[in-house]
Amino acid sequence: MAEFDYDLFVIGAGSGGVRASRVAASYGAKVAIAEEHRVGGTCVIRGCVPKKMLVYGSGFAESLHSAANYGWTIEGARFDWPVLRDFVLKDVERLEGLYTQTLENNRVERFLERATIVGPNTVQLASGRQISARYILVAVGSWPALPDVPGIGHALTSNEMFHLPELPRRLAVMGAGYIAMEFAGVFNALGSKVTLFNRSNAVLRGYDQEITARLLEHARAQGIDLRLGHALQRIEKGADGSLRIHLDDAAPIAADALLVATGRRPKTDGLGLENAGVECATGGAIRVDDQNRTTCSSIYAVGDVTDRVQLTPIAIREGQAFADTLFGGKPAAVDYSAIPSAVFSHPPLAGVGMTEAEARAKLGDISVYRSDFRPMQNIFSDRAERGLYKMVVDDATDRVVGLHMIGPEAPEVLQAAAIAVKAGLTKADFDATVALHPSMAEELVLMK
Ligand code: NDP
Repeated sequence: MAEFDYDLFVIGAGSGGVRASRVAASYGAKVAIAEEHRVGGTCVIRGCVPKKMLVYGSGFAESLHSAANYGWTIEGARFDWPVLRDFVLKDVERLEGLYTQTLENNRVERFLERATIVGPNTVQLASGRQISARYILVAVGSWPALPDVPGIGHALTSNEMFHLPELPRRLAVMGAGYIAMEFAGVFNALGSKVTLFNRSNAVLRGYDQEITARLLEHARAQGIDLRLGHALQRIEKGADGSLRIHLDDAAPIAADALLVATGRRPKTDGLGLENAGVECATGGAIRVDDQNRTTCSSIYAVGDVTDRVQLTPIAIREGQAFADTLFGGKPAAVDYSAIPSAVFSHPPLAGVGMTEAEARAKLGDISVYRSDFRPMQNIFSDRAERGLYKMVVDDATDRVVGLHMIGPEAPEVLQAAAIAVKAGLTKADFDATVALHPSMAEELVLMK
């Protein structure tokens, strides 16, 4: 008889867990996975994917607005939130089906219930059944973290935004990170009156400040009411269902809905980690080494639950590296340098490598090249929105150590350019490349 029921038991069928389980199974391991919500996890079910669809939906507002200048007459154009919402939710179901199929095709056994750890090699399902495994992988992800203030129960998180019964006439958004900036842009374009507030003046920490300052300029011009540097005091709900949001040193905000986007916390509560000696850092993130191993030698963890970099492609890489190392005989570690990232704001922004401030602090002598341009597609719209590309170059080596941009399709342009930054190419290499005209991306090779 086998020593364990499975070679690998994965807790959490999100991006990291699905990748790890299907790759481990493809190497011949006997694998099972448990999921308490829906197969696909945050990215597919209530994150990146449905968010991007809302971004596409909201993009029509601007296109329709500009259409007249291109000669199109669009009569009776109006927006119907339930149509977009239901279309997005239907596609999420389709994707959930595809993820489930991937698990089935790879003979990964699914348990659609909560699993907790009861020992170094044992998990317990919500139904009470105990299962043993040679290795356990924790890939349970993260969950919205809400501040503890009176009335916080009246707030929504990004989870609920995809299910709103109607488009809020007035939407308040708390936070100035990824989720806040993305949802503020979407709902403002769809027609809500958006007020965004944050405790500090910092917006999208980690991104280049000139780029985020440009986003704020655009957000204001688009009609978003920005109240930075004001902490939340309390939330009151009136008899008519409307909210009154009280801030420090600012007038209260009247709103029909409040989205709180103040970070996501590793979802380790009640997982039984202590039963196997798995240690967490402050904030609940599981501590792992560069092989994704926790402080218990048979238990590993990948993705948001480890709070290294909370991005889907990183969770996927960690899941792949875990499976390659343990089941494929190919030891692998994730390279966390020069990770490209983007914010699907209106307009979107993206960056890779060091910001100007980081490069100055770390390298000293740097050169910064800029292209501040009016995208051709904006010329026929009445919006004067300008794009901004920034290149940060190490003077000692001429290497491009950072690229940062805001403007239409910035994430698409940045993803391609990130290959050059990752490869360590120089400013001279960029200059030696012929411009592709007319495009926005040509700015990358024309910076003087
Ligand atoms: P972020 O970490 O991006 O931003 C958190 C915001 O909330 C900041 O403005 C921060 O303010 C504020 N904040 C944090 N803690 C508190 C608190 N206790 N009280 C009041 N304000 C607080 O978090 P998000 O929730 O927007 O997103 C979570 C993660 O999800 C991101 O870090 C990202 O990794 C991922 N994500 C990625 C996306 C993408 O790749 N496009 C899209 C959406 C999410 P301050 O700066 O002042 O501290």
